[in-house]
Amino acid sequence: GETIGIVGGGQLGRMLSMAAAQLGYRTIIFDPNRRTCAADVAAGHVCADFDDLLAMEDFAAQVDVVTYEFENLPVDPLLVIGKRLLPGTKSLGISQDRGREKEFIEGCGARVAPWRCIDSAEDVRSAVEALGHPIVLKTRRYGYDGKGQAWIRSADEAEAAWDAIGREPAVAEKGVPFDHEFSVILARSADGSHAFWDSPDNSHEGGILRRSTVPAPAAVLAQVEEARDFALRIAEALGHVGVLTVEFFASADGPVVNEIAPRVHNSGHWTIEGAETSQFEQHIRAVCGLPLGSTALAGRKAVMENLIGPEVERWPELMAAPGVHLHLYGKGEARPGRKMGHFTKVEP
Ligand code: ATP
Ligand code: MG
Ligand code: MG
Repeated sequence: GETIGIVGGGQLGRMLSMAAAQLGYRTIIFDPNRRTCAADVAAGHVCADFDDLLAMEDFAAQVDVVTYEFENLPVDPLLVIGKRLLPGTKSLGISQDRGREKEFIEGCGARVAPWRCIDSAEDVRSAVEALGHPIVLKTRRYGYDGKGQAWIRSADEAEAAWDAIGREPAVAEKGVPFDHEFSVILARSADGSHAFWDSPDNSHEGGILRRSTVPAPAAVLAQVEEARDFALRIAEALGHVGVLTVEFFASADGPVVNEIAPRVHNSGHWTIEGAETSQFEQHIRAVCGLPLGSTALAGRKAVMENLIGPEVERWPELMAAPGVHLHLYGKGEARPGRKMGHFTKVEP
């Protein structure tokens, strides 16, 4: 069998490893932490910094194909992997910089909120003037789970918001009045074939995904066709191979792209039990050049909920409940805001 390298050792890497094992593949994790929940279930672990070129060369020599479970990685060392890195460096480079990402999405003809690049306090002031408010400032790099963001609700909050995100290079974007948030999750193969799952309705609390529900309500379903068209244009322009997730706001003007993730996504965890083929298996299929599987629903309805921080202590009760599929990531300390597990209920 082949060996798949996975860069990043979090829960997404863990679930990719488990899906790969089911298809007969070995996986090796590249992650700087000595203990990671992904390496715990993989055949091997290269423990080195992401910018360690020698370690990356060693990793590349041990595996047949390399994928990644998160996008905040230095691109240069990954160049040694060449065409065996899937999704490729274009997907990675664009999705790790919110400025490049927005420009790219607009270039694909997809709708985004009005936005500006921010490099100075002066830029923040002129963005408020040009866009009005509310505005959200987001650091161009390294943000996730709502970190590195600050809202500007009136012109006098501009300076404080810029301070709050550490005066880092940022984007300013107009607040989008939305009824729902949803995601388009698709898989694309090297031969251009692709498959969409049903789009989940996503609710967030404090910037962190709380729950994903499929099927989404009618207000979302009415926008899915246009959103899929945007997402596929983005995937094709990236030459993306693997799973791609595009987050949307369902606004009165139609679907507005929030951001993209060049990978499996928390809002797709419901596919493990709720769809014929999970996002994790599908990603492995795509990067290994296997045919894509059916994305049909496995039941009438699926609801996935995250276990964040101390909420993981609910596991005994959840495990006892019929019809509840419990996933624990084996992460150890349940720090506030840390994703410790999730559970999915599927209605037959
Ligand atoms: P993730 O963990 O999904 O990668 P992130 O840190 O990259 O999150 P975003 O997805 O950009 O952050 O924003 C987090 C949440 O904040 C969104 O899901 C949405 O609820 C809200 N939000 C972000 N941008 C806007 C906007 N322009 N208008 C309205 N709400 C927004
Ligand atoms: Mg994000
Ligand atoms: Mg997001």
